[in-house]
This record gives sequence, C-alpha cells and structure tokens, in this order.
Amino acid sequence: MAIGETGLDYHYRDSVPVEIQHERFKRHLIAARELELPVIIHTREAKQETLALLREYSDPRVGGVLHCFTEDLVMAREAVRLGFYISLSGIITFRNAASLRELARQLPLDRLLIETDSPYLAPVPYRGKPNEPAWVVQVAECIAQERGITVDEVAMQTTANFYQLFRAAAPDAPEHVREALANAELLSPNAL
Ligand SMILES: [Zn+2]
Repeated sequence: MAIGETGLDYHYRDSVPVEIQHERFKRHLIAARELELPVIIHTREAKQETLALLREYSDPRVGGVLHCFTEDLVMAREAVRLGFYISLSGIITFRNAASLRELARQLPLDRLLIETDSPYLAPVPYRGKPNEPAWVVQVAECIAQERGITVDEVAMQTTANFYQLFRAAAPDAPEHVREALANAELLSPNAL
C-alpha cells in the first residue's frame, strides 16, 4: 500500500549517521517512485535536506505524507507543492504548539491528514497516558476549532484525503464511507 516510514531524523544523528540516513531515504524514495507507491515520511530537524531529496527523487503524481509533522509552515507548504500531505498528531493540542495550530489553520484542508502516532503523544486531555487510535478525535476537534468548521467536515475531508493518497485501500472503504464521500463530492469518481 505504501513505503515507509522512512526519512531523516537529525535529532538522532548520533545513533544513525546522516550519510546512512540519506542513503536509505533516497533508496526508499526511488523504490516508491518505481513502484508508484505513496511514501510515509518521518522528518525531524532536517528540513532543507528532506525537501532537497523529495525534490530530486519523489514523484508528485504518487506523493506521500509527512507524518506526525512538527516542522514549520514554510516546509509544509513546500512539501504540499511537491505533492505531499501533512499529517497532524495530538501534538497540536499541546499548550506550547501554537505554531502547529497556525499550520492547521493555514494549510489547505484537502492536504491534511490526522493521526495519533499511538502509543506516543496522547492529546490533551489525555497527555501523559499511553495514546490510543480513538483519540484521533481530539486532533480533528482541534483542527475544527482552529479553522472554525465542524468536526464532521474535518473528518470527511481527511478521510477523503486518506483514500486519495492510499489508493490501494480505496476498494476496502466501508460502504457508508464510500457513499458519504461520494455524496459530499469529496472524491474524484475514479478514486474509489
Ligand atoms: Zn515517525
């Protein structure tokens, strides 16, 4: 369905040298491009290097997602321009994450995904507990609040985004989801 997660994490450059990180990331991007599979990317403290490799080796028609995104709006916009989705996690509910909430307001809703990254990073008000997939609701609620729209709108659009990106999952979309997305004209006819 996808390749990943893969990417550059300079926070851990002491445990995995950057040369090795680059070499592996590049290899995964090339494989994703050749197999026409979206790529799930982990990126931390390596903005320019990540974007440079995406520019060179990713395919905008296949794209991918920058998961659990914690970098800045400039990077997010450039990744969107390169055909990627930005996935927001429970971190956006944290008190000190104002810049991520700004990003949740500024990015186009049709390029956002939501996730929990459980068991890590439980959202407020569960912060500190082992995270659960069910708490993705708190991420959706936070985005809805920031954008002044309903949780339903966030849920519908991010679900549509999921099936646009992970095309191999589309045939298994539950019937009620398929109908809801079609009625809301949120998916191109050939996507499901
Ligand atoms: Zn990750």
